[in-house]
Amino acid sequence: CSRTSFEHCLGMERIVESAVVPCTYADHGCTNKITYFNKKSHEQACSYEPCFCPDSGCGFSGSVATLWKHFTTQHKWPSTEFKYYTPFDLRVKPGAHFLRAGDGQLFVMNMVSVEPVGHGVSLVCIQPNTSESSFRCNVVFSSFTGHHQISTLESVRCSSLSDGLPKNYFCIVPKSPGGGAAVLLRITIDTSWCSKSRTSRRRRRTMTTMMRMTRATTRMGI
Ligand SMILES: [Zn+2]
Ligand SMILES: [Zn+2]
Repeated sequence: CSRTSFEHCLGMERIVESAVVPCTYADHGCTNKITYFNKKSHEQACSYEPCFCPDSGCGFSGSVATLWKHFTTQHKWPSTEFKYYTPFDLRVKPGAHFLRAGDGQLFVMNMVSVEPVGHGVSLVCIQPNTSESSFRCNVVFSSFTGHHQISTLESVRCSSLSDGLPKNYFCIVPKSPGGGAAVLLRITIDTSWCSKSRTSRRRRRTMTTMMRMTRATTRMGI
């Protein structure tokens, strides 16, 4: 650029930067008018960015609130409403189970059969932004007499479900012998506050869990 065209470019740039544009997710209800300059950062955090129905044949997408309605009325998928820090029970059964917290946040717990061991349990927070969430999950259960297992997921991953249901399990539930009633999971989901004492306590608890799991697997002869 020569001096004059440089000033000209700069002027143009300012005009472009201050131009007001609609959000890409305006169709999904976002009424924010944003400057071109802020478009990218707004859309990365925009709560109207859609999430997806994990049914590959469905193609529905929408906000977290519309998804819950879709899952429970359209597909009639199993769902549970819960409160943070308050334990609730879920029976081990292959398939997706949708969870809604008191603040409207959605989660999906997916259980898959892992032969010959038992079931793998995955959990994600349904959110358009794929960052780590501030949620953690604790699962306590017993598959057979004398067995007690605690599995903790320190940071629940976020997913828009564009790639379907989560499959990377954080917990394996051993089969209960004799084909008895399916194992009952006692689940607690809470928000992890990053105070130091809590972190170290949590770390200790995770260690204990890992030791217990090792012991349980050793006993099962895997
Ligand atoms: Zn927006
Ligand atoms: Zn659907």
